[in-house]
Amino acid sequence: MSVDTVYMEELDAFTYRERVASGVPVLIPVGSIEQHGPHMPLNTDVLLSREMAGAVAGATGALVAPPIVFGYKSQQRSGGGNHLTGTTSLDAATVVSIAKTLVLELARHGVRKVAFVNGHYENYQFLYEGADLAIRELRLDGITDLKVMLLSYWDFVGDDVIAELYPDGFPGWDLEHGGVLETSLMLLLHPHRVDMTRVADIPPAQLPDYDVLPARPEITPASGCLSSGAAGTAEKGRLLLDGASAGMVAAIRGEFGV
Ligand SMILES: [Zn+2]
Repeated sequence: MSVDTVYMEELDAFTYRERVASGVPVLIPVGSIEQHGPHMPLNTDVLLSREMAGAVAGATGALVAPPIVFGYKSQQRSGGGNHLTGTTSLDAATVVSIAKTLVLELARHGVRKVAFVNGHYENYQFLYEGADLAIRELRLDGITDLKVMLLSYWDFVGDDVIAELYPDGFPGWDLEHGGVLETSLMLLLHPHRVDMTRVADIPPAQLPDYDVLPARPEITPASGCLSSGAAGTAEKGRLLLDGASAGMVAAIRGEFGV
């Protein structure tokens, strides 16, 4: 048994208890099962949020909980839409409930510093709600020292990296679904899960400034990607990983004092 790991589920319970007793933060990666075009797997957001959390944990002494594998419903303007086969999503109330339950479980263990490391655009507000409900409930039980952070890793990619990665203009993180960011990180971290011969080299999607329900499938590009991942490289993935993880490390150190 190795105790030389940041991943909670790989520890024995006794070592885990010692780590928690020492006051470590616990990071919860949050992904989705969502189509990511013809060139990347359905679990891209799970893999990338877990890798990002692992990089942050390595630098802060934090532990990484097992990821939340499913996410909130994919939206046409940020993930291609929930009508696409393969994309398998949770109702909002379920995401809120899972997030709340996990915070309460970690609190029961004695954890007082929790951070969700989000890898799927649509999850954010429901993780926020789950954290808020957990904190409210804990307060009623007299526990007032638990703190939850909520981070989406792309928010920590600096303007300098954006300028280098998108010389022809940055499409915006919402249109990055299946694009340069995710493709580059996957080429760095899970190259055997990417098939660049199948990438759809398309211009950024032209989407309306509103949502419509039920989804109109013709709004989503046929590839399911909202911009092209063709310019993705492992070198760009390295810039993204290093930049985003450094930003998250600074934020976590600042808030949690670790
Ligand atoms: Zn994604």
